Amino acid sequence: MIVAEQKPVEEIRRIIAPYERVLLLGCGTCVTVCGAGGEREVSFLNSVLRVAQAKGSNEIHSFWEYTVKRQCDFEFLDLLADKVNEVDAILSLGCGIGVQVVAERFPDIPVLPGVNTSFMGMAKEWGVWDERCAACGDCRLAETAGICPITRCTKGILNGPCAGTKNGKCEANKDMNCAWVLIYKRLERLQQLEKMRRYYPPRNFRVIPRPRRIVMKADVEPGEDNG
Ligand code: SF4
Ligand code: SF4
Repeated sequence: MIVAEQKPVEEIRRIIAPYERVLLLGCGTCVTVCGAGGEREVSFLNSVLRVAQAKGSNEIHSFWEYTVKRQCDFEFLDLLADKVNEVDAILSLGCGIGVQVVAERFPDIPVLPGVNTSFMGMAKEWGVWDERCAACGDCRLAETAGICPITRCTKGILNGPCAGTKNGKCEANKDMNCAWVLIYKRLERLQQLEKMRRYYPPRNFRVIPRPRRIVMKADVEPGEDNG
């Protein structure tokens, strides 16, 4: 899932300062799970902003709150059409994708980010999320026993381990397991240790074209231009 964290309240107040009527828009998917921008966080932020305003600032805002099932999908945004006509700006607590999709759906109104989108990861324990994928566009998990060397090795080494690993820990961060020791152990368990002997050429991340787009093959008509 996409992991994000809410921006500091002072930054949010600065972002919304020019707008009087603001819709606080939550998203019911990833940012709900990571506690950054779901219904509960929208409601809490609404209270915090109202209290801050009541404490004597010169700002006069009216806030509305609403949470859609998924901000990154037009079909869930149609419900907002009436509400959007009544506000001056939308503060999205969705991830960076959500903000952009809402902005595309409602081009006549400013859509502002209320969270910092951090990475793709998993919940490690309550309140702790670990990065697991950097969307590198050329997944190597088949060779590395399902453990990502790009996100879980501090140096992102494709042919590890480096010379610094000690007692299974990373030399750069003693609190972290060395990703390549984990990969070795899992390959051993899977009886695929020969994969440790293969050499994988360095990746040149600069050649990955941007923006990237994936077109479902079934939707492509022969000769159709998808550029
Ligand atoms: S190799 Fe790692 S960063 Fe690349 S796609 Fe696979 S999991 Fe994601
Ligand atoms: S010790 Fe292991 S995880 Fe740390 S940088 Fe070296 S290979 Fe990567």
